[in-house]
Amino acid sequence: MKHRILVCFSLCCFALTAQMDPPPNFVIVFCDDLGYGDIGSFGHPIIQTPNIDRMAEEGQKWTQFYVADPVCTPSRAALLTGRYPIRNGMTSSKRHVFFPDSPNGLPLEEITIAEVLKTRDYATAAIGKWHLGHLPKFLPQQQGFDYYYGIPYSNDMDSNQWGQYLKLAEDPHYFSETEFFNVPLIENARVIERPADQTTITKRYTQKAVQFIEQNKAQPFFLYLAHSMPHIPLFVSEEFRGRSKASLYVDVIEEIDWSVGEILNVLEKNQLDRNTIVVFTSDNGPWLLFKTHGGSAGPLRAGKGTTFEGGQRVPTIFWGPGRVMPGVINQMGATLDLLPTFANLSGAELPSDRKLDGYDLSQVLTQKSSSPRKDFFYWAFAELHAYRNERYKIHIKQREPIHYGRSTLVLEQPELYDLKADISEKHDLAETFPEILSDFLDKMDLQLMDVADSIPDQLADRIQQK
Ligand code: MG
Repeated sequence: MKHRILVCFSLCCFALTAQMDPPPNFVIVFCDDLGYGDIGSFGHPIIQTPNIDRMAEEGQKWTQFYVADPVCTPSRAALLTGRYPIRNGMTSSKRHVFFPDSPNGLPLEEITIAEVLKTRDYATAAIGKWHLGHLPKFLPQQQGFDYYYGIPYSNDMDSNQWGQYLKLAEDPHYFSETEFFNVPLIENARVIERPADQTTITKRYTQKAVQFIEQNKAQPFFLYLAHSMPHIPLFVSEEFRGRSKASLYVDVIEEIDWSVGEILNVLEKNQLDRNTIVVFTSDNGPWLLFKTHGGSAGPLRAGKGTTFEGGQRVPTIFWGPGRVMPGVINQMGATLDLLPTFANLSGAELPSDRKLDGYDLSQVLTQKSSSPRKDFFYWAFAELHAYRNERYKIHIKQREPIHYGRSTLVLEQPELYDLKADISEKHDLAETFPEILSDFLDKMDLQLMDVADSIPDQLADRIQQK
């Protein structure tokens, strides 16, 4: 009896403490085109990333974490809304991402993580690359963010130097002129610099991020820090240029690692570390077309623009010493899952009037429970290419590492890989396991039907629309 009272008492105390805990702060550090193999703790033999590695040691390193699409705009739309971009026109078979002449953006009816957290009075900031519409009516302040500072689309746009860059990227130390890329730097909805000086962009994003945390430490906050690097053209500040003695790409990643250190420091200095969850990840795999200026997917096949593992599996870490139980998670998660996870942890309601594609990972984070994500659909360029369960993966369509103008290859025979035994997708087992193949094809048909039902005509392909 006494024992039961004690248990009851402890449970009540736990419930009370849990209730009294302030909702956690959230920080997402989202890199651009960073590969699965570009981090020390994910196996890179040269790049020094002590701060990111410390996150992995003290937090959860996820080895099977995915983005919903292998290119920028759709990947970002999916992270912020918890929905496959096919559901809201944020993917296209023709134009892959938004460009400086695009008239559209993420539909305002979409509900972002920032808007979900606003219902719990979070302070919110987007710092860095947006790429969900650069016109004032589509900028972050229209999607739940109090503040925006950054280059609104890819840092190689507004330029005729792209071909030249591709040629010179053979040289690992080639350093372009920042003036060749006439991209704007925007604060809230106003252009404050053009061309943006990209040599200091990682540093300035970091300073703004630290400032935002300092200014909002007395209330819950959500910081979405989306670095423009290491998307080409690569730039670093003077302090980091040549520091690695390896290549410009390595210097760039080491400056991002410094930036992560600054974020962790400011959280610790203000005793916010035990009530903040920091997520480190990337928007898609490495842009291999750019040779020494592109990163590495490690053991994974291919990179950006493909639905092979190298295109969509990204190096991901959750850090939160007071909230996240440390360990290596060899189960599946996706950026689609961040919205439902943050909603649960903050006590916010999930949008109930629309289909979400994410799972709530909070129990994995706090208790290392089994991940609720047991499978994953690989969409790219408005088409369903592949599907995986906890072991096998089927491909029905493929693209080679991204070259503009190439179209999708519809496979005559689907391919099947055992991702546990063959992480590099080298050995096709389709003939060995016809029953798995047929089961997976049925699942893909169901996904196609489910998605087809959910797309209003006026939302289809907003990237292509002029
Ligand atoms: Mg990208």
